[in-house]
Amino acid sequence: RNLKMHFPIYAGILRRKVGAVKAVDGVSFDILTGETLGLVGESGCGKSTVGRALLRLYEPTAGSVVIDGEDIAALPPDALRKKRPTMQMVFQDPQASLNPRMTVAAIIGEPLDEHTDWTEARKSERVYELMDQVGLNRRFANRYPHEFSGGQRQRIGIARALALNPKFIVCDEPIAALDVSIQAQVVNLLEDLQDRLGLTYLFISHDLSMVRHIADRVAVMYLGQIAELSPRDALYARPLHPYAKALLSAVPEADPALEAQRQRIILRGDVPSPANPPKGCNFCTRCPVVMPVCRDVEPVLTEVEPGRFVACHLVSPNNAGGHASPGAEV
Ligand code: SF4
Ligand code: MG
Repeated sequence: RNLKMHFPIYAGILRRKVGAVKAVDGVSFDILTGETLGLVGESGCGKSTVGRALLRLYEPTAGSVVIDGEDIAALPPDALRKKRPTMQMVFQDPQASLNPRMTVAAIIGEPLDEHTDWTEARKSERVYELMDQVGLNRRFANRYPHEFSGGQRQRIGIARALALNPKFIVCDEPIAALDVSIQAQVVNLLEDLQDRLGLTYLFISHDLSMVRHIADRVAVMYLGQIAELSPRDALYARPLHPYAKALLSAVPEADPALEAQRQRIILRGDVPSPANPPKGCNFCTRCPVVMPVCRDVEPVLTEVEPGRFVACHLVSPNNAGGHASPGAEV
């Protein structure tokens, strides 16, 4: 709720704080148990920062992150450590996130070393089980990351994330660094694991076609805020926010008849700096349908149709009321 992640900017020899990069600036959404919420937007819009702040890999500047009735953002270090196993992350670049000097077994088993007092035998058993779950041959347990392909390395990263039986996993661009030919395999694996283990995902990606495949609902971010949050099919069929319309107009349609009608909306200008976002609506400098009120009053994310949340004065006039709760009742 109202999550903010501001990074201070320092300047001069006295390193005085002169401002802040508002990477995430007041974001609210729900993720329902067992669903995949897609989080999309151009690079730099703050989507990875949301993922990290949710898991408290970054300390949020403000806001709350409630999982199972507990506010993660407010937990003291000891309690946070106990909660760690339930929430994990799969990173974008398996190459960079795996220690090249550790064997696969040691990498996958590391969370067990940190969070359990199991015997070596029990840990090995669990490591083998995890390798089975992600489709890695047990015979490779003592090999090193460089001996694997990109797709296999991502399987290692997924196995490590699963080691402690998490409920919630943030997948931050999990396929962006992989060859197109194996992206689908890794996505299928993630879906399969979700079904078998009852996992809940936040799936961060700039690949709108892949998000369309995997997500139940999708949040579209622009400049540190959510522009629209809608059920997947509704969003792709008929985006409501002007930015979501432009973003999705770039996605090719599989159906040739629809593809022939597709009109690409090209936005003018650059995304403003998150250190100095515009007054009013953060999209007002580029919005093709901007109105005078937009440059003055910040639109609030509002439920404009059942289950569809949009922050735009055009879609929802007089939306200056309180913040809506962007999700179904849990
Ligand atoms: Fe465009 Fe105004 Fe809506 Fe912002 S509030 S998206 S500027 S119409
Ligand atoms: Mg990112």
